[in-house]
Amino acid sequence: MTGTAPAPFTADDYRARMARAAREAADAGLAGLLVAPGPDLVWLTGYAPPAATERLTLLALAPGHDPVLVVPTLEAPDAAKAAGAPALTLRDWTDGKDPYAVTAGLLEPRGRFGVSDNTWAMHLLGLQRALPGTSYAALTEVLPMLRAVKDPAELELMAAAGAAADRAFEEIRTMPFAGRRESEVGADLAGLLRRFGHSQVDFTIVASGPNGANPHHEVGDRVIARGDMVVLDFGGLKDGYGSDTSRTVHVGEPTDEERRVHDLVREAQEAGFRAVRPGVACQEVDRAARAVIADAGYGAYFIHRTGHGIGVTTHEPPYMIEGEEQPLVPGMCFSVEPGVYLPGRFGVRIEDIVTVTEDGGRRLNDTTRELVVVG
Ligand code: ZN
Ligand code: ZN
Ligand code: ZN
Repeated sequence: MTGTAPAPFTADDYRARMARAAREAADAGLAGLLVAPGPDLVWLTGYAPPAATERLTLLALAPGHDPVLVVPTLEAPDAAKAAGAPALTLRDWTDGKDPYAVTAGLLEPRGRFGVSDNTWAMHLLGLQRALPGTSYAALTEVLPMLRAVKDPAELELMAAAGAAADRAFEEIRTMPFAGRRESEVGADLAGLLRRFGHSQVDFTIVASGPNGANPHHEVGDRVIARGDMVVLDFGGLKDGYGSDTSRTVHVGEPTDEERRVHDLVREAQEAGFRAVRPGVACQEVDRAARAVIADAGYGAYFIHRTGHGIGVTTHEPPYMIEGEEQPLVPGMCFSVEPGVYLPGRFGVRIEDIVTVTEDGGRRLNDTTRELVVVG
């Protein structure tokens, strides 16, 4: 994750996010949050250093204290330009100084802290050495819903990212598939996402024929042929917010069985979407989609959860999975993406990003969910 944060957010927005995060940390019994460069830091401060490095950059958020960003002196001018910088105190450290000692001075020596998931182990171990009485937990374990509920400005950015991904699908479906390699179609998809405003492409899955039966397949050298089902699953970040959509197309006229399986997945996707409303547990979305596929006898071929949250990253909590009792809240955004995978033959997946509204759900992807025939 690089680049600057999206323009619509002001220092006051970041101040409010940091205050809420500190409050939620206190409610969770934590002495604070420690956030290294990555999506959490972007969301909290608008600051995205070019890369996480061996030089410590760390936001310390503690209830009742002003947020402090510990930053290498040579990167401090960049940090000072972040949209959230006016809501922060910068504490810079120069090479040769011990950044862990600097950070330790800001922390409660016997506290338990939530740490952003992508914090480097060497930095956490350095802190532990400086403050042996502290303990730590992964941020997504202690505050999984911190970024889950999007405000109206965030929802607009999510909708724009979804619309851009939809435009990419509308273009790719008019391009030739037969006779081209998956990797070539994947490169076209990536180019389209960028053309429609994505600054970062996270994945462009083009899984043709038997490759479609493997949900982890990305792209390969396989040459797409007439008669192939092709799973397309692509997304990334536009103006700091994520897109992620899947459509399954067929090269030439499909068989009755291919049509039937595609219809089944479409029905399951619709059922998952219709289950979305405030107060419903995440697992109910999974159950609704899964029941359609299981009732048709294909339950053994739907081999992954129904969905995942999305926001400043393309995969994050909450997860639409059996056992997840987290209730849906207006403003949450997540995928509904059931699939059927027939080993050695073909796969079908249909995926939309959905946001929870006051009385149901709203799809942020709106290209046709009918089986599209491509050439
Ligand atoms: Zn076919
Ligand atoms: Zn996807
Ligand atoms: Zn997804």
